[in-house]
Amino acid sequence: MENNTPPIDILVIDDEKSLRDGAERVLSRMGCRVSKASRGVEGLDIIEKENVSIVLLDMKMPGIDGMEVLRRIMIMDKGILVIVITGYATVETAIEAMKQGAYDFIPKPYEPDQLRIVVNRAIDKIHLTKDAEKLEREQRRTLADLHTEQSRVHAIIEYLPNGVMVTDDKGVVVLINPSFIDYMGLDPGTEPGKKLENYIEDKDLCKLISDISRGRYVDFDDIPTYELDLTGGKFLLVRSRPVLGEIGECLGAVVNLMDVSALKALDQVKSEFVAKVSHELRSPLSTIHEQLALVLADMVDNISDNDQHILSRAKEKTKGMISTIGDLLDLSRIEAGNIAKEIKVVCLDEFIKGILDFLEAKAKAKNQTLILEPIEDSIPEITADPMSIESIFGNLITNAINYTQEGGEIKVNVSLVGINIRVKVSDNGFGIDPKYMDKIFDRFYRVKNDKTRFITGTGLGLPIVKGLVDSLGGYIDVESEVGIGTTFTVLIPVKTSRR
Ligand code: ATP
Ligand code: MG
Repeated sequence: MENNTPPIDILVIDDEKSLRDGAERVLSRMGCRVSKASRGVEGLDIIEKENVSIVLLDMKMPGIDGMEVLRRIMIMDKGILVIVITGYATVETAIEAMKQGAYDFIPKPYEPDQLRIVVNRAIDKIHLTKDAEKLEREQRRTLADLHTEQSRVHAIIEYLPNGVMVTDDKGVVVLINPSFIDYMGLDPGTEPGKKLENYIEDKDLCKLISDISRGRYVDFDDIPTYELDLTGGKFLLVRSRPVLGEIGECLGAVVNLMDVSALKALDQVKSEFVAKVSHELRSPLSTIHEQLALVLADMVDNISDNDQHILSRAKEKTKGMISTIGDLLDLSRIEAGNIAKEIKVVCLDEFIKGILDFLEAKAKAKNQTLILEPIEDSIPEITADPMSIESIFGNLITNAINYTQEGGEIKVNVSLVGINIRVKVSDNGFGIDPKYMDKIFDRFYRVKNDKTRFITGTGLGLPIVKGLVDSLGGYIDVESEVGIGTTFTVLIPVKTSRR
């Protein structure tokens, strides 16, 4: 018996005092708590009132006999183990008692050792039963915990202000929450269980989620966020992720919908404000610039060098401001989606050659070489607004020149890749720290460090480039390493004729 387990309570029911006392001695020494009764009724009384685990029961007693006592103990159903004590000649009694539910028997007269063995077996059985019960209790509890945990998670998902949808690995919807139903304008009672298309109208989004569900995007970084433009000025930001199992297998997808209508509206107000202010500033600034130019031209002979320098600086500054305002207006137009200007057939390689010729002087001033690598493919013509193309590559090549040291090298490579024309603008300049990579396309963002400090700019070039590339249905990517150089890659689909 283990020390920390409570002692076992044993009741000895025997009419012979010497046997009662003898048994008590043996059992007490085994660490049991012993109570005694000389008659069946007395014993039953004790069992009724106290906690008894084992009963040592003499079969032959005056009054109600052992078999009857056994029967009544069994009826009480307290899980008591009864060991009956039978005479030599009464094997049948023993068998009968076992049939009635006795746990074991000892023939009379018995040795203390015999008693110890039988009682020890009963004690072991009690411990085993207790252990099993405890285990079962624990298991029941963890199941209950699990149940409350599940209902908690369920409640959280149910009340989440964001829309949530979960699919299995075949693109079948297994969970949707009320916000999702609401955002998507589905019937309030809509249940999961059907294919994606039954819940989401947008075909491209369905395809994306279906691809994620089937494990096509295990690399989270590649998963595009999606914007749903619903009727009534409602914008939903859709973000999806695969749900991965223990060994990295894809179990399905989880989709999160967020209402960004308010943010969108705010952004639009801001853009409109910027557009309005820029527009208001442009004409007076242009006037100032022209007047400064006039004054400078008129007074060229009778003006001191110092004054001339001051006026020239002022003229340069206004020119810079006009250019910034031009950028801001461009950006506003791109953002508002009305950039359709003059759509023409553009021969991209020829066009890029023109831009390079134009920027040659700027590169020369920094002793840089500007190279257009031999074009091996025959590049198909595209239909696009030449100003957009000019702006895209003008900005990228100007950046390459600006952010490359004296004597550096800038290479432009044009090729045909599938349905896209690919233009790579590479330099061996300062490079961009990975932590700024996703910021450089933001409006007004400029990397500030020792190398770039003295280079002027507004941080509007790349957002304009990105906006224009998007409007052409194209794609822009950047790779860079600090101190080694930067490559911007632009893909423009040949079938571009949108703008
Ligand atoms: P502007 O509006 O006059 O173009 P800008 O050149 O600073 O100003 P972006 O063209 O948007 O603005 O570029 C943003 C930032 O990205 C730059 O300030 C620069 O730090 C970084 N950058 C862009 N191109 C390169 C490049 N080729 N090499 C290194 N850094 C670059
Ligand atoms: Mg720039």
